Amino acid sequence: MDKVVSISFGELFLKGKNRQRFVDRAIKKVRKKISHIPYENIYLDSGKLYIEAKEEYLDAIIESASNVFGIIYLSKCVRTSKDFEKIKEAADVLFEDLDYEGKTFKVFTNRVDKSFTLTSPEISRELGAYILKNFKNLSVDIKKPELEIHLDLKNYAYLFANRVKGLGGLPIGSSGRGLVLLSGGIDSPVAGFLIAKRGVELGCIHFHSYPFTSERAFDKVKKLAEILATYTGNFTLYSVNLLKIQTEINKKALERETTVLSRRFMMRISDKLAEKNEYSMIVTGESLGQVASQTIEGINASNVLATRPVLRPLIGLDKSDIIEISEKIGTYETSIMPFEDCCTVFLPKKTCNKTKN
Ligand code: ATP
Ligand code: MG
Repeated sequence: MDKVVSISFGELFLKGKNRQRFVDRAIKKVRKKISHIPYENIYLDSGKLYIEAKEEYLDAIIESASNVFGIIYLSKCVRTSKDFEKIKEAADVLFEDLDYEGKTFKVFTNRVDKSFTLTSPEISRELGAYILKNFKNLSVDIKKPELEIHLDLKNYAYLFANRVKGLGGLPIGSSGRGLVLLSGGIDSPVAGFLIAKRGVELGCIHFHSYPFTSERAFDKVKKLAEILATYTGNFTLYSVNLLKIQTEINKKALERETTVLSRRFMMRISDKLAEKNEYSMIVTGESLGQVASQTIEGINASNVLATRPVLRPLIGLDKSDIIEISEKIGTYETSIMPFEDCCTVFLPKKTCNKTKN
């Protein structure tokens, strides 16, 4: 009897012929994520991934692998042979670590190996009866149990109770490559995260106005990119000095047009860089109506310059929803650090509100 980690993939299994490719990609990402942990073996058993390691490493494996897109659940399982007596022993082991007293439970059996003599409901009933008899203060609730005890019968029998929720989405690289316009604000890192979650491999481009913007402001952007990279794996962060262009805009354009003009240059440069480095889409953190430059006319003024799709995953989200995601993914605290960006240095207070980011 051993304890192993099991990993369930989400939408990967809806992908028909592509499924194997998606699974292989997700496995590669998991391997990379846990490479610092001395695990012993990793294998597939009827669609789920299993990782063998000494018990003391199992929690660390779950924590590291839970950041891989494409995973919906992770759990610690007790693995044994497909023998009902052994499965009961596995239940004893499982319950040692379980906070079960006073709770309701239900057993769910998934019998992939149909050669097992009992049917799934019969197995669930028998195992349920064993648990009721051997562990105190438990009762069965088949509608809304507090504890779900899962038994998977595959090449082995796997018994588990608590599932950690993964991020869902699709493994990085399964939906092409995208270039994210990454400012130091709250929105663009969230946009990058959401599009990466759909399987897009990221690159990021940041525009600064050094020396008017400081190195510390750029460090903040690097830090945001590093946080994103904990989900995506390493990617390239391009930085472009927009100082000359912004100086010219400031000299020659009407004040109310400076933000939109600056965005147009950012888009033109980003599109060229995307062409050269084979990014098939551009991603921004724009949200409709959030600031004056993000009216549909403002957005369209730069949109028309792109020769590839511009994806705006935040377009219909409220600022409060965006903040909630940024807190969850860990970028918020960095995003609100009060460093100037090229926008706040140069542009009129009206269209570029410092506190809004
Ligand atoms: P953010 O919080 O991402 O800065 P925002 O609400 O402050 O967004 P704007 O500053 O108007 O909105 O920018 C809209 C989008 O344009 C950003 O989400 C980002 O994708 C891009 N962008 C703005 N400034 C920069 C910059 N200095 N470098 C790279 N991209 C930028
Ligand atoms: Mg901004």
